Parts: sequence; structure tokens; C-alpha cells
Amino acid sequence: MIEQRNNKTDLKNLSQDQLVEFVEGLGQPAFRGRQIMSWLYRPGITDFEQMTDLAKIFRKVLAENACFSHFHNPVIERAEDGCVKFGFKLDDGFMIETVLIPEPDRNTLCISSQVGCAMKCAFCLTGTMGFKRNLTPAEIVNQVCAVRDFLINEPRENLIGPDRVTNLVYMGMGEPLNNTENVLTSLSIIQEQKGLDMASRRITVSTCGIVPQMKRLGEEANVNLAISLHAVDDETRNTLMPVNHKYSIDELLEACRQYPIQKRKRIMFEYILLAGINDTDNEARILAKKLRNIPCKINLIPYNESPELPYKSPSKKRILSFQNILREAKYSVFIRSSRGSDISAACGQLASKN
Ligand code: SF4
Repeated sequence: MIEQRNNKTDLKNLSQDQLVEFVEGLGQPAFRGRQIMSWLYRPGITDFEQMTDLAKIFRKVLAENACFSHFHNPVIERAEDGCVKFGFKLDDGFMIETVLIPEPDRNTLCISSQVGCAMKCAFCLTGTMGFKRNLTPAEIVNQVCAVRDFLINEPRENLIGPDRVTNLVYMGMGEPLNNTENVLTSLSIIQEQKGLDMASRRITVSTCGIVPQMKRLGEEANVNLAISLHAVDDETRNTLMPVNHKYSIDELLEACRQYPIQKRKRIMFEYILLAGINDTDNEARILAKKLRNIPCKINLIPYNESPELPYKSPSKKRILSFQNILREAKYSVFIRSSRGSDISAACGQLASKN
């Protein structure tokens, strides 16, 4: 269903094909849809009147039937390490959060796909909010547009990385594959050359393991996949991630084996290390065994502690021991340094107060 604002269609909810259909419905030829697409995502375009290659009369018809949304005045928090957290207020008053993680050669943007999340992972603050609603394609895409505009306007001397968003991860608030339809539309806009023109190899969708939707994502989008695994046996994973009651570890890993991975790409397994829960040498050995025959990399994430949750991060020694076992088993394994934790922007810490 196409979302409407004030009875007008928000054109940023539409993929290029849907935009073509929309203009055809207004009695216009298909190429007008592609023309509009090439205007909607340019920085500084806020009014149909700026779309100067459209006839004046058609601009008027568009303004009567359609609009295109933007995020305004985000709440911006800057971490000491250069991460920037953006809080965007939605039309219905909910807040969502988006995190920019700059490095010298790249800017990774971590975007949200839902307000809150229904999955109730025990270690995640977003999970404690409960599920409020899905984001529309426009609300997903507008996070990228707003941060792009922020980077364009940011003084050069403040920039750690490039002046544009180079990498995108669907790892913010929400489970993307519980909002697959809108996530797929947003991906088509973000990848479309006349849209935000981002290369698929720079986009990653992360899931806690909604197995049937992983199949759909693989069939309909050409993006990298990240899996929040976080445990090697069903008993522990059931406790940490209730989704595991529905899709067991073995089912999830089988779906990973079936996932159509891009050439020279690998699935990223995310593993939050929680002291005394999933961080023993034996668990590292089981993980090495379970991931055999899956082209993959492993990200170890020492837990970002929050006063609201009881979990602790393991010692440095324990983390390195876990990593070494996986390295000896010939996996590419990284310890993901915690970024933005002083502004609650690190992994698992996103949770708007509204
Ligand atoms: S970790 Fe992801 S899937 Fe789990 S509750 Fe948090 S946002 Fe939802």
C-alpha cells in the first residue's frame, strides 16, 4: 500500500517503477516518472517548482496530488570518537535514531527500519521499547538524505572521513526483515542511479534470523547479509534471542548456506560477547565448527554495557582467546571496537525516549 500524507502521495515512498505508474495515473508518459526521480534525491530540492524541466502545468498537478518529505532539525549528539547520533522526529511524534560512524576512508551510516522492535533480544535496549510501528520507505531513505545533507554542510575541519555517506548498514532500531516490503523499496531507491546511487556492495542488511524473509531478501535484493548470531547452542540463544524458538540455529545457518552471496563477498556473523554467557573457548570451537562451509567473516562485539541491562563485557584476555580459536580455524575474525558509547550510539544502545 502506498502511504499518503495529507491525502497526498509522498513520492519518496515510491520506487522508480512505482513512480512511473503514479505519473501514468496522472496521464503522463513514463519518462516523466524517471525525470521526477532524478530530482527527488538531489540535495536542496524541496519544492516541485524547482523541477524546471517539468512543464509548469504538470508541476501544479503534482503539487495538488503529491508531496515529498524531508527530515528537519534532527537532534544531533557528537561522541568523542567522532560518531554522530541523529534523532529524527516522525510526523506522529515518534523518534528514531541513526548513527554516522566515520573513519578516514569511509562513512558508515547505521539506519533504523522500525520504531522499536518486537524481537525482544535480551541484551538490546531497542528490544526493551517494544514494537511501535514499521518505518515507511520514505522514513528509511530520508535518514540517508538528511545525513548526506549534514555532511555537505559540515565544515571540512570537522570531518574525519569523506564528505558523503559511503556505506550503509540496516542495523539501527528494528528488525529489517520484519519490515521487508518497505526495506526492499528503500533499497531500490538507494541503489537506483537516479535515486541515491549507492553500490550494492556497500549496503548490508542485518537480521536476527527471520528465515523465510532471508530467502526473499536474497531473491529480490542484491545486498550483503549480516546475521546476529550471538550464541552457538539453542538453549543459550533461546534465552538471548526469542526468535530462536521459531527458527533454530541449524535452520538459520542452512538459510545462510542458501543465501545468494555476491562474488567475493561473505556473510558477516555478528557475535556479541557476554561475560559468562557465550564467551568460553569451547563456544568458540563450536562456532568454528558450525560455520564451516559458509563463506563468512565474524565480528566479535564486546558487549556495550548499559545501566538498564545486567550483562557484562568479558575481559580483554577472554575476548582475545575467543578470537584466537576462530583465527586458528582460519576464519577472518574482527573485534569490533565500540564506537559512540558515550552518547548511547553503540551497538544495542539505540532506544528513543519517546
Ligand atoms: S538486536 Fe535487533 S532484532 Fe534484537 S531487539 Fe535489538 S533491534 Fe530488535
